[in-house]
Amino acid sequence: MSGGTRVLVLNAGSSSVKYQLIDMLDGARLASGLVERIGESTGRLAHTPHSGDKRELLEVFPDHSAALKAVAEELAADGLGLDSPELAAIGHRVVHGGKRFTAPTVITDEVLKEIRRLIPVAPLHNPANITGIEVARALRPDLPQVAVFDTAFHASMPEYSARYAIDKAVADEHRVRRYGFHGTSHQYVSRATARLLGKDPAEVNVIVLHLGNGASASAVSGGHCVDTSMGLTPLEGLVMGTRSGDIDAGVVFHLHRVGGLSIDEIDDLLNRRSGLRGLCGENDMREIMRRADEGDADARLAFDSYVHRLRKYIGGYYAVLGRVDAIAFTAGVGENAAPVRAAATAGLEELGIAVDPELNSVRSGEARIISPAYSRVAVAVVPTDEELEIARQAFALVHRETGGSED
Ligand code: ADP
Repeated sequence: MSGGTRVLVLNAGSSSVKYQLIDMLDGARLASGLVERIGESTGRLAHTPHSGDKRELLEVFPDHSAALKAVAEELAADGLGLDSPELAAIGHRVVHGGKRFTAPTVITDEVLKEIRRLIPVAPLHNPANITGIEVARALRPDLPQVAVFDTAFHASMPEYSARYAIDKAVADEHRVRRYGFHGTSHQYVSRATARLLGKDPAEVNVIVLHLGNGASASAVSGGHCVDTSMGLTPLEGLVMGTRSGDIDAGVVFHLHRVGGLSIDEIDDLLNRRSGLRGLCGENDMREIMRRADEGDADARLAFDSYVHRLRKYIGGYYAVLGRVDAIAFTAGVGENAAPVRAAATAGLEELGIAVDPELNSVRSGEARIISPAYSRVAVAVVPTDEELEIARQAFALVHRETGGSED
């Protein structure tokens, strides 16, 4: 191995690529950016070097290959080109790893083939991730490329958590089971929460609430996930920005048979026109809280439904874990929306859960505890950092496989 200490993290979506170049010596971001509207008539690349001003490039990026080449040029302009010997690996976020990939994996042709085989269970995500990998491999064929899977952290779930109670043979044939998502975030946040408590992750039980536009909860016992709210796809569980979360599967039959909606229309309804947006026409929690405060009944219903579902998962995972040391709020809503945190934990003193209103109202980018000293369960706000976790896992794997960098 070259002895490089930098990892480029790529998160390729269907029409976007997010990236960060991280130095693993100290976790410093050397550069970060986003390419949007790939394949559309007006593309945009926003690039922020560590030392220097943000640059914006407005041009057409016909495909991911063009987008990644533009990213490589921006990095090179800052002296951080992909040809740098400092670069140790490229870490790719891959959404679905199925049952096979339960840990970060060095990408080979065979691994890529297997990720492709999982497209039927992640049709929206895996194809874009694969494109990102192919383009990056073409740019630097000699460099280790590592896939870090959103599903991997959840692979430790016991079979009774992961199985749906349907015909086992049918489920197995079609690979239907709970896989869970946001795993990199749940892993990072559960560990960071243990650190915040001054404990080893192996000693603590944590309920992690990842509340972004997509949202999921997980029950983490001694550093291992034992249950999570998302399922075969990221549709199940909490009320989200535009997804319904938990719903009676019978609703699908009803909308099809009685409502005359096609399966594609129902898919669109539940994934893109439901959740907060479905209930009040808006999926940004800031705007919903503002409208609810002004007396808007739809916004109030959306907020209350969101919180109610969260409370059900907190209660459910409390029972699953038996003893809870901490509840950690993370991602856009979890890190910023104090009213959501207050409402989700209100009246749970009997469970040993309390939030200090003053601590809760502090705005900060740091991990912090917002429960009073007497609260048996620590309630924490822990900013997530999926990119750093991907970089760490990719770097650790490459280091391990090459026997260290002492060459
Ligand atoms: P994604 O799932 O897209 O990565 P994020 O974790 O960035 O999402 O979360 C985005 C969501 O966070 C926004 O849709 C918004 O609802 C919410 N959010 C961001 N900032 C605030 C804030 N200050 N107060 C309340 N909600 C916020």
